[in-house]
Amino acid sequence: MTARSGQLFDRARAVMPGGVSSPVRAFGAVGGIPRFVASAQGSRVTDVEGREYVDLVGGWGPAILGHAHPAVVAAVQEAVARSASFGAPCLPELELAEAITARVTPVERVRFTSSGTEAVMTAVRLARAATGRSTIVKFAGCYHGHADAFLVAAGSGVATLGLPDSPGVTPHVAADTVVLPYGDLAAVEALFAERGGSIAAVLTEAVPANMGVVPPPPGYAAGLRRLCTAYGALLVLDEVMTGFRVSPTGWWGLEGAREGWAPDLFTYGKVIGGGLPLAAVAGPAAVMDLLAPAGPVYQAGTLSGNPAAATAGLVTLGLLDDDSYAVLDARAREVEALVTAALSEAGVAHRLNTAGNLFSVFFTADPVTDYDSAKRQDTAAFGRFFHAMLDGGVWLPPSAFEAWFVSTAHTDADLEQIAAALPAAARAAGVSAG
Ligand SMILES: *Cc1c(COP(=O)(O)O)cnc(C)c1O
Repeated sequence: MTARSGQLFDRARAVMPGGVSSPVRAFGAVGGIPRFVASAQGSRVTDVEGREYVDLVGGWGPAILGHAHPAVVAAVQEAVARSASFGAPCLPELELAEAITARVTPVERVRFTSSGTEAVMTAVRLARAATGRSTIVKFAGCYHGHADAFLVAAGSGVATLGLPDSPGVTPHVAADTVVLPYGDLAAVEALFAERGGSIAAVLTEAVPANMGVVPPPPGYAAGLRRLCTAYGALLVLDEVMTGFRVSPTGWWGLEGAREGWAPDLFTYGKVIGGGLPLAAVAGPAAVMDLLAPAGPVYQAGTLSGNPAAATAGLVTLGLLDDDSYAVLDARAREVEALVTAALSEAGVAHRLNTAGNLFSVFFTADPVTDYDSAKRQDTAAFGRFFHAMLDGGVWLPPSAFEAWFVSTAHTDADLEQIAAALPAAARAAGVSAG
């Protein structure tokens, strides 16, 4: 059933490290052979064997409307026919920047990049330039891309592979990154009290979702805002995953807008590229206009803001209305209910963490509130669950440290297929490897 994927994976390993372009895809954490994907349409992914799966990965977030939405495909085809990249200003990037500033009121300026990693790198450079300070504070288990400064106690693939810190990151760079446990405001306060004068920025995922989903404790972000303001540091809210996914204004719209706070910088990615490589750093003019050529902070990109990716993002944002977010929330609650019911029925200890339409399941009896508690889950149980779901035609993230993604394209038939796959998967999770 996986013969073709197996052959392709062998070929890939001969020419690509580990056979993949991004580590988690290799199935290292769950075992077995990664399926090569031939195509994806709506809520379904088809592998090279011709087997179809209900997709709960969504390309790791971008496929919020489902894969290959006809309107996105048509717009991108037209854009590409006029050339995929000019290396010059173009209308789609301008319109996308306007769409973002119109939605997120604290944002006055947007700089596009090709990846979330670059967006966060730029945010950090801006924060250091704006403050004349070096130290960056990040939280254990939060993932901000693969730049050196962020590969300290990082989530996502780093968590999946159980890497302590990556070789190749110099002690000098690592020393400029201070890692604190997530959710512990007193720890942040103590750090500021000790060395506030050297802290350029506090960097946090709007909702940590790269160690599995860990909803922010009430008042946590507001507390970070208060401390950053008091000590003259910048607050960088990484919305690469949550931006335009959990609401029309991202997680900030669900929390900051209601509580009356805003970060100094936002980072976006995933959804705003509509499946093509595009991300952004965004914020008020006072900080953002430090970027060249308006200001002295250098940042650039050959493909940045290219018309094809900007068009995909623009059309995607345009198709996401309030109803879409209601559908996403409802679908998330439905999947959660099915998973909880099946695991409870099979007597499998689990915790379901939810933030907006993002959620994940941890195989543990204890609450998961930070990286340490996330790491105490039974990842072997997840591996068995994952493979049984795959056998049942459901495509989950191949790691216990990732969020699950629903789309507006998920149908009742998809929910039925998930429901049908769950009992066997729950039983598999419950059978101890012994
Ligand atoms: C995915 C992600 C990134 C990195 O984005 P890439 O486009 O993979 O470089 C950064 N921060 C968060 C919160 C993410 O989820």
